[in-house]
Amino acid sequence: MVKNVGDGVSSKPIRIRAHHLLCMQGFQGFGYSKEFTENMAKITEKVLQNPSSFIKIVNGSDSICECCPHYDKGICTGESSSPNVIMFMDSLVLQNLKIEEGSIVSATQISSITKNLDGQTVNEICGNCSWRKKCLFFQEKRL
Ligand code: SF4
Repeated sequence: MVKNVGDGVSSKPIRIRAHHLLCMQGFQGFGYSKEFTENMAKITEKVLQNPSSFIKIVNGSDSICECCPHYDKGICTGESSSPNVIMFMDSLVLQNLKIEEGSIVSATQISSITKNLDGQTVNEICGNCSWRKKCLFFQEKRL
């Protein structure tokens, strides 16, 4: 079980939905729109290159979704995926990493808590995601 380090955290943690823990590590600058990729790049850099930052892992829309063209009133309306599919991906990540929804973890923990996901599990989590061929995380875990 991942330790929740929320107690005593002073700066506000960045909301990150569970499956975006994988997306952020595989991000190569591609995305749904210019606004989306700029925001994703900004958040990814802020989290992954700032060891003192904290994230709150959620099963729902996050700070990356906020600039996505598929984001509408707090819900993902992606054409290739329904909100249920996206939330299922989040649930699979939470379940496989044994993380409770709402846990707050240090940015430095992201790599260590996700590195043990095996190729089969990643394949299941990522499902029919359209970014599989461009995602470094997926490519590195590919069976
Ligand atoms: S496709 Fe859905 S889950 Fe992905 S960033 Fe856009 S709104 Fe969020």
